[in-house]
Amino acid sequence: MADCIFCGIIEGSIPAEKVYEDELVTAFKDIHAQAPVHLLVIPNQHIPSIQQVGEEDSELLGRIFSVMNRLAVDEGLAERGYRIVNNCGDEGGQTVHHIHFHLLGGRSLTWPPG
Ligand code: C5P
Repeated sequence: MADCIFCGIIEGSIPAEKVYEDELVTAFKDIHAQAPVHLLVIPNQHIPSIQQVGEEDSELLGRIFSVMNRLAVDEGLAERGYRIVNNCGDEGGQTVHHIHFHLLGGRSLTWPPG
């Protein structure tokens, strides 16, 4: 989608440190890392937020979660634990309107988030 930063990252017109990509999903390092490991995992298809996810996206969501599982293993987080975050809408703290999941780990994470 035009004017979407994450669509630009997927197609390669905006630089990012990609760690994974397949025909459905892309993952890259967050430019403002909040933890030693901070990846963003996104669908290649432009979906603005969780609120636009439907029944027809079940396979895609399953793929996203299995990619996050694999990345957690690759990053050495699986045994230690990690956190997956999705910010939805303005009060949820969403700033980029292409659905994305933050995969955070590598330190002891506190709760609740702010
Ligand atoms: O959940 P939220 O929408 O706030 O997260 C967007 C994330 O995208 C931020 O953590 C920001 O650092 C990241 N980002 C990025 N590369 C960009 C633009 C934003 O990693 N070019």
